[in-house]
Amino acid sequence: MRTPFLAGNWKMHKTVSESAEFAQELVRTLSSSRNKLMVAPAFLSLPAVAAVLQGSKILLGAQNMAPEVEGAHTGEVSVRMLKDVGVNVVILGHSERRHSYLESDALVNRKVRLALDHDLEAILCVGETIEEREQGQVEDVVGTQLREGLAGVDPGQLDRVTIAYEPVWAIGTGKTATPQDADAVHAYIRTVLGSMYSTDAAQRLIVQYGGSVKPTNVKELMAMENIDGALVGGASLEIESFAPIALFDA
Ligand code: PEP
Repeated sequence: MRTPFLAGNWKMHKTVSESAEFAQELVRTLSSSRNKLMVAPAFLSLPAVAAVLQGSKILLGAQNMAPEVEGAHTGEVSVRMLKDVGVNVVILGHSERRHSYLESDALVNRKVRLALDHDLEAILCVGETIEEREQGQVEDVVGTQLREGLAGVDPGQLDRVTIAYEPVWAIGTGKTATPQDADAVHAYIRTVLGSMYSTDAAQRLIVQYGGSVKPTNVKELMAMENIDGALVGGASLEIESFAPIALFDA
């Protein structure tokens, strides 16, 4: 039995005080949820949100992380800095990082291994563009992102890995993959992980869907056999839209 994992990525939204205030509202509203929950504010807001989330059931996520432990890397934030402020989970390989900041699978892999080696959880995002989907390359693209993103990750570290399948064409566009299409890719993700690790490990792994998840579609997505949660962007920014997603009950 996989526990549903619902996560909000606030991206570059909300100031520090707005983030702390919103986190307070979430703690009050979501205390009865039986799901695994996480919110990922901007780096600057992490300490303030960490203070609010302390003792609650909502995990603190970061949206990115440097691939090095420390050094002359202007503008970067290290794994030790994230851990020091209480971050539990880090989102890596988000399509906005891959496409706007040209992050390669090799770079994402360095971050994944560093996060896991420092006992953080990692959400590894994978997903195809619309051109890749139209050219029938979904499995090629997602398979490569998984194999290269998880290269060198030990089977014993896999329980701290979540995969987020986020078709790029569905992110922030209002277009959602049909539950059946998404589930087919999620099943393929388990096949790849089964070949890399074991069928058992692949069955245990949480695979989130991301791409215009809303209160109106969360139920039908979560009803699919291989969809275990959601990574939510736009709808995670307001209590009215995130609460019904986070409180989703199978
Ligand atoms: C995301 O950025 O991970 C995402 C899924 O965004 P949205 O929910 O806004 O499509």
